[in-house]
Amino acid sequence: MLNLNPMTLNMKPQQKKILIDNGHGCNTAGKRSPDGRFREYAWTREIARAVVADINDLGYDAQLLVPEEYDVSLSARCYRVNCRCDEYGKRNVLCISIHVNAAGHGDRWYNATGWCAYTCKGQTTSDKLADCLYRQAGLWLPGHRLRTDYSDGDPDQEAEFTILRKTSCTCVLTENGFQDCEESLRFLESEAGKEAIIGLHVDGILDFIDPNRPYGYKDLQKHRRSKSANDCQIQTQTEQEFDKIL
Ligand SMILES: [Zn+2]
Repeated sequence: MLNLNPMTLNMKPQQKKILIDNGHGCNTAGKRSPDGRFREYAWTREIARAVVADINDLGYDAQLLVPEEYDVSLSARCYRVNCRCDEYGKRNVLCISIHVNAAGHGDRWYNATGWCAYTCKGQTTSDKLADCLYRQAGLWLPGHRLRTDYSDGDPDQEAEFTILRKTSCTCVLTENGFQDCEESLRFLESEAGKEAIIGLHVDGILDFIDPNRPYGYKDLQKHRRSKSANDCQIQTQTEQEFDKIL
C-alpha cells in the first residue's frame, strides 16, 4: 500500500521505482554503425532488459520505461516518468536513459571513444546519481576513457535533453561508447563489454538508492555461475544468504 501522501514520504530503497529507458526505436532514422551492423535501439534494449532483470533479481523494483520496439516520443516517455512521480512521489523514482554515442552521422568511421553521463543543468539529485555511475564506470571500464566535465565541480556533462529537462525526478542519460568507432563497437558487441555496461548501471543505480546494500552485480554473476556450474555443490555461506533474496 502506498502512503496517502507519497510526495513527502521517503520510501525504502526496495520500494523505489527505477525506470530504465532504452532510447530510440526500430523506426528511428540513423542511430547505427556506418556499415549498418549495429543498431542503437537493439543494443540498448538488450542492455536495458538485462539491467531491469538484474536489479529485480537483487531485490529492487526496476521497470522498462519503453517495452515497445518502436520509437516512443520523448514527450510520451517524459509523461510515463512523471505519472510514476505522481504515484510514488518524485524522490522515490529515478530514470536512466541508455544510449550509444556517435561522432558523426553514420557516414563514416571515426576514432572517438569513451563513456559519459549527462544531467540537466544545475546541481540536483541527478548529479549525485551521475557521480555513482561515474564511480562504477571507473571500476567496470578500466583502460577506457571517461568523458568528464569538472567545470561545475562534478564529472558529469550537462545538456538540455528533453528526457532530463521534462522529467521531475532524478534522471541521467548515459552514452556508452561510440557506434561509429570500430574499436568502441568491438567492445560493445563483446560479452565482456555488455557485462561491464550492465554492471556499471546496476551497481551505479544501487549505490545511489541503497549504498549499504550487501550485494552487487558481481555477486549476482558469481551466484549464477556457481548455480549453473554445479547445482549440487556445497554452497558457501554467502551464496546461501544470497539464495534467500532470489
Ligand atoms: Zn541515442
